[in-house]
Amino acid sequence: MQYQSTRNKELRVTSAQAIARGISADKGLFVPTEFPQISLADLERMSGESYTARAKFILGKYLTDFSEAEVADCVDSAYTAKKFRSADVAPLTHLHDNAYVLELWHGPTCAFKDMALQILPHFMRYSVAKAGNGEEVVILVATSGDTGKAALEGFCDAPNTRILVFYPDQGVSKMQKLQMATQEGQNVGVFAIRGNFDDAQNGVKAIFTDSETGDLLAENGKKFSSANSINWGRLCPQIVYYVSAYCDLLKNGALKAGEPMNVVVPTGNFGNILAAYYAKKMGLPIKKLICASNQNRVLTDFFETGTYDRRRQFFTTTSPSMDILISSNLERLLFDLCDGDDAEVKAWMEALVADGNYTVSDKVRAALDEQFASGCCDEAKTAAVIRDTFENYNYLIDTHTAVAVGVCEEYLKETGDKTPTVIASTANPYKFPASVLTALCGSAPADDFDCADALCEKSGVEMPDPLKTLKGKAVRFTTVCNKEEMRAEVLSTLGITEG
Ligand SMILES: *Cc1c(COP(=O)(O)O)cnc(C)c1O
Repeated sequence: MQYQSTRNKELRVTSAQAIARGISADKGLFVPTEFPQISLADLERMSGESYTARAKFILGKYLTDFSEAEVADCVDSAYTAKKFRSADVAPLTHLHDNAYVLELWHGPTCAFKDMALQILPHFMRYSVAKAGNGEEVVILVATSGDTGKAALEGFCDAPNTRILVFYPDQGVSKMQKLQMATQEGQNVGVFAIRGNFDDAQNGVKAIFTDSETGDLLAENGKKFSSANSINWGRLCPQIVYYVSAYCDLLKNGALKAGEPMNVVVPTGNFGNILAAYYAKKMGLPIKKLICASNQNRVLTDFFETGTYDRRRQFFTTTSPSMDILISSNLERLLFDLCDGDDAEVKAWMEALVADGNYTVSDKVRAALDEQFASGCCDEAKTAAVIRDTFENYNYLIDTHTAVAVGVCEEYLKETGDKTPTVIASTANPYKFPASVLTALCGSAPADDFDCADALCEKSGVEMPDPLKTLKGKAVRFTTVCNKEEMRAEVLSTLGITEG
């Protein structure tokens, strides 16, 4: 299988090249040229298999330039009992009626980003060996909080690799900041920037696609790559857990092979929900893909009107990992929905940069309407959903999951849809203890660990070890820089001087 750029279909690469490069030089994103199919027999067989067996089967279909043993090595190195606190890796929990929760936060950093970022470093190791020239790989990451920590944890002390993370200084939770600032490892760097996530993401993309900076790195035996969801190696592991959730519904008897499920995803950069769309393209029976936004409802408006407009107020919410106005992976969806019209996609993306908005064609709008539903959940509703979910179902959820649960309930109420519906739960509630406690009790102490203690007392749910052990860990990174200084920070950290 080959991969093509969303902005130039003629550009073809292998999966190893797509993963090693991260983004195409024409600023497009790599997408598969075709979608491998899974049959109902495959799904029935996999319903009796482990998560790792399911992962090997699905990933092998996309990484066709990897040997079967290489794919197996990546999977077995990533989803280990040492790293994941659940033997099922991504267990499915019944919430109520036809609603299920897919718990994606049992990995080392307690957010769903681990599902991809525990395996990406292994993909990268093989990809660089296949497609690289022995350069040191420099991973640049823009994070709204969770990607940064998960990428640091995944790439920590990976051989021949450096990882540098940028996050919005005022845009992450205290727990998220502490997770990053205390990161161990000799090959890591962490920087807060004065700006929001979009500033961080734009800054990283600009450094990344700047040919002068690229040449400078090459002269120094280094090469950039990305661990953001613009990297294909981030997306394909996420397809696996939607297939896995379906297999679990089959196994539990919630549906019969071929019957559809719905999927609800709390969305920021559009990576997670895009993976569900790709699972559907592979033949997984999915009826509606339900896109849930927080107060930053740029995607809800897009689904409602066909116009994507980033010229609006940016809100800092209690679900910071979704505080995003430029959802990068939407580009991949649009490319697919306009049948690979790269010129059209390029024009839309350039209009977004130049004018701050674009409007898709009627054909694309019709396809969006048919496959997607959308909704948003404001701050008051998010808190109410956390409280109601705990009181009604004795189940503790974080703020991001609450956005999805809120939109899901609205959808089920409006449509009367009885289809089994899987809600992607993207973070452990202890990553956002102050917001969760405030939702339950009306107020919260200033210190996140005091909040966690109170939350444990109230809910009886234990704080996961990787968060517990942050208390008292030494802070290693304190740099705060302006967005204009990101490139200079990268070069100086790498010991490169401009000549
Ligand atoms: C990253 C993140 C999201 C958003 O996922 P996207 O793939 O960017 O749409 C939602 N919830 C949490 C907890 C996250 O970390």
